[in-house]
Amino acid sequence: MNSPIRIGYGCDIHRLVEGRALYLCNCRIPCEKGLLGHSDADAAIHALIDALIGALALGDIGHFFPDTDPQYKDAAGDFLLKKMLENPAFKDWILGNVDLTIIAQIPRMAPHIQKMRSRLAELLNTSIDNVSIKAKTAEKLDSIGAGLAIEARCVVLLFQKA
Ligand code: MG
Repeated sequence: MNSPIRIGYGCDIHRLVEGRALYLCNCRIPCEKGLLGHSDADAAIHALIDALIGALALGDIGHFFPDTDPQYKDAAGDFLLKKMLENPAFKDWILGNVDLTIIAQIPRMAPHIQKMRSRLAELLNTSIDNVSIKAKTAEKLDSIGAGLAIEARCVVLLFQKA
């Protein structure tokens, strides 16, 4: 790697449906609907994982955790994130900071931001000051605005260990 500082970006979207539990940042969020997916469909963690993968130009989340692989059926976000960080490619890098945005018309995310920040900081073994989570609605526009999906977008900065 040429640069001792690497930026990564990731995004993800999942359908919001009845009969599923809602997980974001590995936190169970009270909601009458949940995200649909092969895994637990934690779009926030998936965006974070893709940002980490992107920072080191390793491909994408589908390459590491194919949604056709039975071992990842209903896989929780913490399991996938821990497994990703165990990849030897990350051993020479430390996390600078994470900035994650969740776009959801429902449910209201504000009451859950602090617990999601804490959980991500714990999973990433970093200080909560290094984890920003922002939430916004889609102003009732398009599929997210109609309450049919939730999207997450994330950037991370990695520093090469001295
Ligand atoms: Mg996903």
